[in-house]
Amino acid sequence: MPDTIFSKIIRGEIPSHKVYEDAHVFAFLDIGPLSRGHTLVIPKQAVARLDELSDESAAAIGRVLPRLCRAVLKATGATNYNVLQNNGALAHQAVMHVHFHIIPRFEDGSGLGIKWGAGKLDPAAGKTLAEMIASSL
Ligand code: 5GP
Repeated sequence: MPDTIFSKIIRGEIPSHKVYEDAHVFAFLDIGPLSRGHTLVIPKQAVARLDELSDESAAAIGRVLPRLCRAVLKATGATNYNVLQNNGALAHQAVMHVHFHIIPRFEDGSGLGIKWGAGKLDPAAGKTLAEMIASSL
């Protein structure tokens, strides 16, 4: 995969406000924060999408993500937040290296704006679809 700006940040070739690093994971402040404390958590493994991530990298992120959320909340005083993870340009992914956003949500409205166009799940279609997904695992 071609280098993205995030690989350069991991290697220290581009500066960032780092908040955490271990053998598999790097976390730093987003340069265009939606709110104070907006933090990006990325694997050191350079793949574009979550479904491409190795089990080892995924486990390493899963292990530290809640701790990073707690740290962002403690540092900012926020009590509400979103964790966002975009895959593909249609899904608003701009940087093609897996990343999780931790985005505090404040009373002043700063944070992630969400358009949630909920539909209605048809029971029969839902049964078929759930079976298809389960058998694809
Ligand atoms: P995406 O839309 O791909 O999920 O989000 C990419 C995020 O990366 C954006 O929130 C953007 O502000 C952030 N970003 C892009 N380039 C840089 C950079 O050079 N440094 C930092 N710290 N964040 C960046």
